[in-house]
Amino acid sequence: MNEKVALVTGASSGIGEAVARRLAEQGYVTYGAARRTDRMRPLAAVGIRTLSLDVTDEDSTRDAVGQILAETGRLDVLVNNAGYGSYGAIEDVPIDEARRQFEVNVFGAMRLVQLVAPTMREQRSGRIVNISSMGGEIYTPLGGWYHGTKFALEGLSDCLRLELGPFGVDVVVVQPGGIRSEWGTIAAENVVRTSGSGPYARQASAVAGMLAASGERDSSPDVVADAVERAVTATRPRTRYAIGFGAKPLI
Ligand code: NDP
Repeated sequence: MNEKVALVTGASSGIGEAVARRLAEQGYVTYGAARRTDRMRPLAAVGIRTLSLDVTDEDSTRDAVGQILAETGRLDVLVNNAGYGSYGAIEDVPIDEARRQFEVNVFGAMRLVQLVAPTMREQRSGRIVNISSMGGEIYTPLGGWYHGTKFALEGLSDCLRLELGPFGVDVVVVQPGGIRSEWGTIAAENVVRTSGSGPYARQASAVAGMLAASGERDSSPDVVADAVERAVTATRPRTRYAIGFGAKPLI
């Protein structure tokens, strides 16, 4: 097979869905992966191959990558996008939930890196795109555990770039700002559930309002697809593509 092959996690919604569509339009044999496979039917209808994937599950990730390699024999692009925002005051978020936040946003991404790196090294080519956040460089109250995962993802990506660079594999970080998707609703629900009553109630109400706000302020997931397209097609990609609030699609 001569065509390049891409895997996008979290393709059942928002940014991942837009990125999967974009890579397919660019001619990649594209695999979209998520737990809710029913939500990816529209992607399957346009030729995107859909996979059931829970990034926190060892077997699930191994099976998904195994299936791609069995079907195509290669893997050129991994977009680690699956993630959510576990919002609430640091002292209010139960440690088990904080651990789950890291399991999805950090270990999920790195589990996939470990599975695809041998193939990319052997190919002596590949792009790993990690969807971080502006929240991987800045921080807000009641977002500590979420920011912690994105700061971790930034640091891991920088180390990974140094490690894999000599093998011809590029590692790129994309940092979205406010993007219209289900992310804000889920994060707002989390902050209200976790810190909506008690000492942080006032902060929680303000943060929930900010997270739930969408429309004019937030950008279309297409602006993130623009950045990912650049990250995978540029001859020499930048290490980071930052997307500010209110960014407009380039394409
Ligand atoms: P959505 O909530 O719309 O989509 C999140 C995706 O992640 C879904 O497809 C979901 O699929 C998937 N996902 C969650 N948990 C798992 C899991 N355990 N295994 C596999 N897939 C999982 O949010 P966005 O599209 O906005 O978010 C995508 C990424 O962008 C996240 O990493 C987020 O942190 C980041 N980001 C988003 C911003 C925004 O303003 N929207 C801003 C900055 C960064 P399913 O539930 O079907 O498994």
